[in-house]
Amino acid sequence: MAEQQTCPGCGGARGTEKTEHTVETDPQGRQQPVRRSYWSPCTVCGGSGVVQR
Ligand SMILES: [Zn+2]
Repeated sequence: MAEQQTCPGCGGARGTEKTEHTVETDPQGRQQPVRRSYWSPCTVCGGSGVVQR
């Protein structure tokens, strides 16, 4: 019988929002700094927020 426990890796948040900074070239050939945020699922629980123990 598995018992679920709040994931110690993310504290139940299921992942973290990360921000990525890149430089892209726009159609005019100028380089523009671009900031993107993306969701990174927790690797400990696989994005479920809980782990089996
Ligand atoms: Zn987790």
